[in-house]
Amino acid sequence: MIDNIVWLRSDLRVRDNPALSSAMEQGPTACVYLLAQKTWSQHHWAPYKAAFLLRVLESLAEQLAKLGVPLQVIDAPHFDDATDHLLQFSREIGAKKLFFNREYPLDEKVRDEKVHNALEKNGVACELHDSFLVFPPDSILKDDGSPYSVFTPFKRKWLARAEGENLRSLPYPQRQQSIVLDTEIPGEILSTKASFGQNLWPGNHKHADDLLETFLNRKIDHYHNERDFPAADGTSKLSPYLSLGVISPRECLEKAQTLQRANSINSNEGIETWVSELIWRDFYTHVLAQNSRISRGKAFKAETDKIEWNVNEEWFERWAKGETGFPIVDAGMRQLNTTGWMHNRLRMITSQFLTKHLFIDWRRGEKYFLSHLVDGEFAANNGGWQWSASTGTDAVPYFRMFNPLRQSERFDPDGTFIREQIPDLIDANPKFFANSAAQHDLVSSYPPPMINLKEERERTLKRWKRFNQTLS
Ligand SMILES: Cc1cc2nc3c(=O)[nH]c(=O)nc-3n(C[C@H](O)[C@H](O)[C@H](O)COP(=O)(O)OP(=O)(O)OC[C@H]3O[C@@H](n4cnc5c(N)ncnc54)[C@H](O)[C@@H]3O)c2cc1C
Repeated sequence: MIDNIVWLRSDLRVRDNPALSSAMEQGPTACVYLLAQKTWSQHHWAPYKAAFLLRVLESLAEQLAKLGVPLQVIDAPHFDDATDHLLQFSREIGAKKLFFNREYPLDEKVRDEKVHNALEKNGVACELHDSFLVFPPDSILKDDGSPYSVFTPFKRKWLARAEGENLRSLPYPQRQQSIVLDTEIPGEILSTKASFGQNLWPGNHKHADDLLETFLNRKIDHYHNERDFPAADGTSKLSPYLSLGVISPRECLEKAQTLQRANSINSNEGIETWVSELIWRDFYTHVLAQNSRISRGKAFKAETDKIEWNVNEEWFERWAKGETGFPIVDAGMRQLNTTGWMHNRLRMITSQFLTKHLFIDWRRGEKYFLSHLVDGEFAANNGGWQWSASTGTDAVPYFRMFNPLRQSERFDPDGTFIREQIPDLIDANPKFFANSAAQHDLVSSYPPPMINLKEERERTLKRWKRFNQTLS
């Protein structure tokens, strides 16, 4: 007899999974995962992400089996199919209760509400939990109960809460008497084989644990100094694992806090800076959950939806392929295209180049990133793009534009990272990276700069000024 179903989504783990723990405490449990390939295509899932998911599911099925819990993987191509499949599955196994951890983008919320209503109507109770963030949306609010739209006060409140509460990951669930169902995880979805990218992004849970341990033991102390240098390997690279919930953000925080308490000699700046990034992750998801217009492709600053962006396919293509002639921009785009991941500093540089110097709509870049990133996550991606484009919460002011040549000098001073990504530039000297226009004839196989930075900067400033005048 199976009493409970856990519907797994972006919480693909056994440790610190509130829905799973609660279900197992209440009775014999089975897990289900719905493959929503049609909706994921509409949501621009990247091949790297699709393949990574299949590997994670394999690893999760093994972990669940050790607890005696089966994992049923069902083809349910569209989010609208979820209700029927979950009802049918609950009838097949005779389960009376469905457990799941909330997801916050609009389509997911609408789907979940439909499922919730339909299952309860049909005698299957639903129990909802939160697992994707350290603190769920609406739990960090201003004193007057309204949501934050600026990061710094949000962070202050978040930290006060984290210090006040003794945050503990949930204990490992107790093994149940084994239940076996026919589990079959497909070898391919979205026309992508499960093996695609497996050397770069192993899907097993042990790998995520190892990444976290290595980061905490060896890198976090220098994180504040090294995180901006793409050649340094100074960040955790946990983003794909956090985005599918392979590892828990609460567990990340708990371990960082434990280290902080034990760290009586060294400075805690690295730990504090890293925790700040986990807070950005919470912040952008809160903003998304509280503003449904964002899920509909609208800007956070509603008035900026009236901006008339440049439409220039050739420019967009050159940016996407990493052929702009600005080495640091091209190195970032080539890292994305060949690995499914891009260093945060480069995400900022490439997104600013597209939205500021090329003045192309941030939504085009947002979509391109989602369709290539292994860690593609709506809230963080949208937040990052709107930050760069000056249309979002806490966005950079419109007149602040990263100059890609100065960024290159500061964050890849000897061009180590650029050379790794662009073989044509393997012998170029650092002066080239700081002024590729003047020295272009030195490397003829690499494209010349596609724009005059100064002219495009001026043009963008004028457009913004004109736009702002239309508002007054
Ligand atoms: C234009 C743009 C698009 C982005 N798109 C995504 C995306 O689709 N998915 C994604 O996970 N992150 C995105 N980010 C945020 C950030 O670039 C990545 O989270 C980070 O590079 C992942 O590397 P890491 O795991 O080594 O991060 P670390 O530096 O080790 O940080 C730890 C974790 O904190 C979170 N985090 C770090 N920085 C941010 C941030 N600025 N906003 C929100 N969360 C953050 C991530 O979960 C990350 O794994 C984007 C940033 C920009 C500027």
